[in-house]
Amino acid sequence: MMLRLQKYDMNIVYRPGKEVVLADMLSRLHPTTGPEIDIEKSVFAVQFSADRLQQLKDETCRDPHMTALKNTIIKGWPEKPKDLPKNLRQYWSLKEELTVEDDIVLKGDRVMIPESMKQYILQTIHSGHQGIEKCRMRAKTCVYWHDLSHDIETFVKTCETSEKSTP
Ligand SMILES: [Zn+2]
Repeated sequence: MMLRLQKYDMNIVYRPGKEVVLADMLSRLHPTTGPEIDIEKSVFAVQFSADRLQQLKDETCRDPHMTALKNTIIKGWPEKPKDLPKNLRQYWSLKEELTVEDDIVLKGDRVMIPESMKQYILQTIHSGHQGIEKCRMRAKTCVYWHDLSHDIETFVKTCETSEKSTP
């Protein structure tokens, strides 16, 4: 399993349990530590290097939508969803799961990705050219954005189309 994944892309690694880099990162983000990330969840984790993590912080801070969401999480949610700006109402049902740690927004133990990094994440998730469901499974272990599932589908379909048309 490990060799097969590494052949496809160095960014996708198999490591057992707590050794997953993202898990390490998340445990650093949560100094009090939550439940351990189980092996099944960690198999397809996307590795975030220190540079990539810094980029994630920078891009999250630069992104007006993420900034608005962060402010709402930090200051507290209004009584009713209609009291939120329209573009934040999509997060109402997730409000119990959303936290801000070290300038990054987390949904549970998944990192929320700002617009400017979505393409990179999609490429990383699909780097082994697995199908839509495998990519979704991998994404669900570590990253989140509102249209993630839909964007994965579009990305994979587009990739497969261009692969077929390449001579
Ligand atoms: Zn592909």
